[in-house]
Amino acid sequence: MKICRFDDDRLGLVDGDDVLDVTEALDAIPPMRWPLPQGDPLIANLDAVRARIDAIKGGAARKPIASVHLKSPVANPNKVIGAPVNYQKHIDEANADRASFGTSQEIKGIDHYGPFLKANSSLVGQDDGVALRFTDRRNDHEGELAVIIGKTADRISIGDAYDYIAGYSIGLDMTVRGPEDRSVRKSIDTYSVLGPWLITKDEVPEPNHLDLKLWVGEELRQESNTDNLIYNVERLVEWCSSFYTLYPGDVIMTGTPEGVGPVKDGDTIRCTVERVGEINVKVRNA
Ligand code: MN
Repeated sequence: MKICRFDDDRLGLVDGDDVLDVTEALDAIPPMRWPLPQGDPLIANLDAVRARIDAIKGGAARKPIASVHLKSPVANPNKVIGAPVNYQKHIDEANADRASFGTSQEIKGIDHYGPFLKANSSLVGQDDGVALRFTDRRNDHEGELAVIIGKTADRISIGDAYDYIAGYSIGLDMTVRGPEDRSVRKSIDTYSVLGPWLITKDEVPEPNHLDLKLWVGEELRQESNTDNLIYNVERLVEWCSSFYTLYPGDVIMTGTPEGVGPVKDGDTIRCTVERVGEINVKVRNA
């Protein structure tokens, strides 16, 4: 099932090139009051929402998905986690051009750095676009498979990791190159794009074997497969949950392959992840 959030926070079921308005299914989320539980209420109640979607979809209004404004499919994550340098050829390209990557030191492997956090305020959807800041510096695209956590996960093992995943999405981990901490350079407003929808995990049986491609305009910039991940999806869930409790709706951007490069005002970024879908994101100056 592909679920999206569109227009004025409508809930959508993606059906081919159309979206069915299944906003009524949000009634399956129990009413809440302060203090809110950790995590995204929709993802925390995804099984109940899915059952309600199945019950009402026959009578749902339909419109072309191209005619709606797609927002981040996760509205209220507890956190957005990034995996640094998780493809060997991306480590190699960074070491070949350390000046552009803001360091004179050797760039090491993912185990050396640990995961990083991207501010929740940076999270947007496909049709919100990316608004560039610090345009005198290099602003790069990083196309990534994004994992959406489905239930609370504290120090879980690789063998159990799959049980804690709700589904997948495409992530753009937009980045200003330079010397600051990743939590600064990758947390600018609009620098975490998620979408165009969430696809539930039952439709992606092999997340560690998905083609990933990214174009800027007509130019193919990135082309790899998630079987090149150094820490694969299950290992990332284990690793991240060894540091922080993961909550429903938490996003793990799994890392980007080689081919990262700059974008500028007026560009369109297109990223495809096999089985998950295709995201098209416009870039402007803030
Ligand atoms: Mn990244």
